[in-house]
Amino acid sequence: MFEERILLDAMKTVSRYPRELERTAGHMKPPDTTTKDCTSGYSIFYDTLADMTWPAVEEAARRNTPLLVPVGVIEQHGPHLPLATDTYGAYLLCRLVKLGLAKAGLDSVIAPPYYFGINATTSMFPGSFTISLDTMTRVLAEILENCADWGFRRQFIINHHGDPEHNRALVQVVHMLRDRGVQTTYVLGGLLGSLMDPDEPASFGGHEPLQDDELIRVVDSEATGAARVRLTGSLGPDVHAGERETSLIMRYFPDTLDSEVDVHGLEPAPQRPDMLSAAVLSGGWREASPLGYIGDPAKATSENGELYELEAADISAAIAESLHPKR
Ligand SMILES: [Zn+2]
Repeated sequence: MFEERILLDAMKTVSRYPRELERTAGHMKPPDTTTKDCTSGYSIFYDTLADMTWPAVEEAARRNTPLLVPVGVIEQHGPHLPLATDTYGAYLLCRLVKLGLAKAGLDSVIAPPYYFGINATTSMFPGSFTISLDTMTRVLAEILENCADWGFRRQFIINHHGDPEHNRALVQVVHMLRDRGVQTTYVLGGLLGSLMDPDEPASFGGHEPLQDDELIRVVDSEATGAARVRLTGSLGPDVHAGERETSLIMRYFPDTLDSEVDVHGLEPAPQRPDMLSAAVLSGGWREASPLGYIGDPAKATSENGELYELEAADISAAIAESLHPKR
């Protein structure tokens, strides 16, 4: 009896199903790949190893083509920017650096962007993924060991995230790869280069700082320095989701900017360096900046995003110099 009722109910459900499908068709249309929905947007795999075929990877690895490794995080970036802003920033820098190296006659390959990093300082915000230092170190080191085993034995880490713990993981990754005879190098440039002191163990590298051959310090060219001062001079450190990163997103990834937010109406969130380091060390970021950003996003313009092109030119010149030192 019981089984019969179940069977009858099931038959009723089945006969109702096509009508329900019809009714909800508006919400359940199969994706039309000719529409903007499926063909627009940004792929962080574009122009990277992930979009290559294995024979192409084998050939590039056989030639020990320099590997550019974009490292970012998925982290709150204020009420207006996508969580992946740092990943987009690292990816963009690598693409621009690849172009710069190509102009100097040097091939390079971009690794698939790495984005599960450490957000110890902003993990109280939803959307800020954070993993432990040991996990990040192991995952990234093993990924780069894969690349080294295939033949990519010159690796340049281009990072777009300042969390001290995240940077400690990167330093350990470089040490581990070097111990295996792989020429992995941390390329420290851009804003991070001006904010982070590799000789300061508390903020960078823990107790085992990078050796000279493990680090490329990129110095701002005159044009880059001037652009940086123009961009951030008025407010002190523009470290997070302020004018600099908002300009980056406006220029290169405009569809990811939240169109519901009036960016030019956002109040500046000035931050004294001592307050910032207190927030970083104590985990009090949300108290220091309730909306999540530090800086002045209202000043952002697409033109100001040019800073990234200037930074990338400096980085590619430094990498080219390390590959072919001038005598
Ligand atoms: Zn950022």
